[in-house]
Amino acid sequence: MFIMSEDSQRTQGRDAQSSNIMAGKAVAESVRTTLGPRGMDKMLVDSSGEVVITNDGATILNEMDIEHPAAQMIVEVADSQEEEVGDGTTTAAVIAGNLLGEAEDLIEQDVHATTIVEGYHEASEIALEAISEQVSEEVVDDEVLKQVAESSMTGKGTGGLTAESLAETVVEAIRHVELEDGVARDNVTVHTQIGASSNATELVPGIVIDEEPAHDGMPSEVEDASLAVLDVELGVRTGEIDAEYSIDSIDQLNSAIDAEESEVRGYAETVAESGADVVFTTEDVDDRVASYLATEGVLVFEGIGDSDAKDIVSATGATRVGALDDLEEADFGQADRISAENYGDDDLAFVEGGAAAETVTVFVRGGTEHVVDELERAIGDALDVVATALASGEVVPGAGATEIAIADKIREEAAGIEGRKQLAVNAFADALDIVPRTLAANTGRDPIDALVDLRSAHDSTGRAGLITSGEEVTIDDPFDYGVIDPADVKREAIESATEAATMIARIDDVIAAE
Ligand code: ADP
Ligand code: MG
Repeated sequence: MFIMSEDSQRTQGRDAQSSNIMAGKAVAESVRTTLGPRGMDKMLVDSSGEVVITNDGATILNEMDIEHPAAQMIVEVADSQEEEVGDGTTTAAVIAGNLLGEAEDLIEQDVHATTIVEGYHEASEIALEAISEQVSEEVVDDEVLKQVAESSMTGKGTGGLTAESLAETVVEAIRHVELEDGVARDNVTVHTQIGASSNATELVPGIVIDEEPAHDGMPSEVEDASLAVLDVELGVRTGEIDAEYSIDSIDQLNSAIDAEESEVRGYAETVAESGADVVFTTEDVDDRVASYLATEGVLVFEGIGDSDAKDIVSATGATRVGALDDLEEADFGQADRISAENYGDDDLAFVEGGAAAETVTVFVRGGTEHVVDELERAIGDALDVVATALASGEVVPGAGATEIAIADKIREEAAGIEGRKQLAVNAFADALDIVPRTLAANTGRDPIDALVDLRSAHDSTGRAGLITSGEEVTIDDPFDYGVIDPADVKREAIESATEAATMIARIDDVIAAE
């Protein structure tokens, strides 16, 4: 009796397990060389020739267009890591891959998948305890936050000096949006602009949008601005122009033109008389209206995007107005400064010091598109980790030290666990060694020697990482070198890697429709 379509493909038992595990491992392996300060970048070229150069785990995995369902689960590990904490995507994927590799060995030794799953879950609990034990006793102040930001950006093609000044900008940005209980991370946006060195990256206390004034004669800067945000077309509506006129005398023509002129003038006067210094509208503005408003000293931006309009509203406290007759002072928003600036081929509008909300923009500069794109990702990660570290107040040593400490604690506790499960718990510890081992390999050191040295340093001091600075590689306390990661990044990596690896290991039957 057939219960499935004859075309569907079925793989069962060990075959299913090993093919899934292999696919998962392969994906994790593909990002391994990008880990850490000496990690290399990848160049990804899609079918249309679009090029992305990046060191970011989540970006690489997503650009790779992975189809195998088990491999796709590793991509999801990176995605959820990115979404939850914004960093540690390579770490999470690499750990997940190694957990699968260890699981494969255990299966070969006839350890049942459910035993592996149980062991892994138990080990991950111990890992979370170990992470909490590694949390620094020191207060997470600006200095620590800067180090967290810098640690997250190392290896991201920002350059040493730049990473330091970027870290400062990132911390300043997050401090701006700090609340009494948490951080309004969404109030920090990143705007990229090609055309200067990345050292020119700065913090704008407000928002930046890609718009230019509706008329050359308008002021390029307005201080203490009252601004209106409109969804109104300031001109004769396109529909009305199309309407058919039947004109059979010059007088009629003149009066038609007069009527249009006076309609247009009416719009201009209404806006000017409303008292708004600056107007943003999502619709078009007639040239005559723009020209009149220019003489009145009003700065107007036309055809702005809906999301820009929303940002302006939330930053300045303006109310969007849908009909000109409804416009009144109560609808105005306030900003300390609104300006229009030209950057080569691009025109930008800055809305600074909005009265309603603390919004800031990291204005990212860089010489080429690839540079600003990678900087944008690096700064995005840095903003996330600083927000995470500030919100929880918990940071742990980086450079592999936390992973060494976790593995150590797991091995200690494994001794008290009975039966084959002990093998799985120990395997979990072995899988974590991948982080320091990879950091070592990516600096050109022998991974096994490095691991031996790290463990012995950890045994004698309780905190040892493989710190890279410039050409130097030192085994020491990462806190002393400012190599610091948020505790939540490590927790999330352990949890999401465990979840994916155990899910993949448990599958022993793959049924695929044709
Ligand atoms: P991920 O995508 O996992 O964040 P990264 O390439 O950003 O991958 O590397 C992060 C790892 O690099 C963390 O374990 C972090 O502690 C470590 N790291 C950061 N700076 C240094 C440094 N100067 N020396 C050694 N390790 C570092
Ligand atoms: Mg990182």
